[in-house]
Amino acid sequence: MSERTDGIIIAIDGPSGAGKSTVARLLAERLGYIQIDTGAMYRASALLISSSGIDPGDADALESFCKELDIHFENRQGQTLVIANGNDVTGLIRTPEISRLTSQTSALKPVRDALLLSQRRMGGRGGVVLEGRDIGTVVFPDAELKFFLSASAEERGRRRFEELTLKGEPVTLQDTIAEVVKRDLQDSERDIAPLKQAEDAVMVDSSSLTIEEVLDIMENFFREKIMSKGKKI
Ligand code: C5P
Repeated sequence: MSERTDGIIIAIDGPSGAGKSTVARLLAERLGYIQIDTGAMYRASALLISSSGIDPGDADALESFCKELDIHFENRQGQTLVIANGNDVTGLIRTPEISRLTSQTSALKPVRDALLLSQRRMGGRGGVVLEGRDIGTVVFPDAELKFFLSASAEERGRRRFEELTLKGEPVTLQDTIAEVVKRDLQDSERDIAPLKQAEDAVMVDSSSLTIEEVLDIMENFFREKIMSKGKKI
């Protein structure tokens, strides 16, 4: 296990729309930890690949492109920004089109290799809540606390639909549920780092739980873990 100097590593994996981002942000706030939204990193890389015009099927071109990828987070006036190769892309990466594209580019090895390295660099010291698909299985298999946050496909589609409608995206509920299911299938069936529950992850089904209830469950596991390890929070 690598040396943690600032607290433990908490991994939250699960399918789209299970509430990972909200829960990871609020849990990190409760614990005074840093949140790392790895989905945002994959989204930002998909945006960069598509705007660069390179052919994702051209392995050499993609590999050189990914070696230069620099995706990180910056806090400005209480807001977390996603900075991709020097540009703020925060407002551009949550569209249905980028969701679809991300599910394809995130299956590519050069993309995963590049982001895996930066995620390990960002989170390795501990004191972090990382959310994604492969945090507990691949990025930090030795994370001290792992959750697999899920919910029924209907509920996840409904949540995504509300989110998109609020932002003025012209989507239907039926299409949004279908998109969520399709994306999960792509994420679960890819060869590299597929979406799957780590053996030692705690399964939390958020279908009929409020955000506060999910947070309380996670915080209880956190307190138990800290007590059993005699670690400082
Ligand atoms: O979590 P979010 O919906 O923002 O993730 C967008 C996409 O990024 C996912 O559908 C998945 O293809 C990819 N992803 C991934 N591995 C992660 C996080 C996200 O492949 N750790």
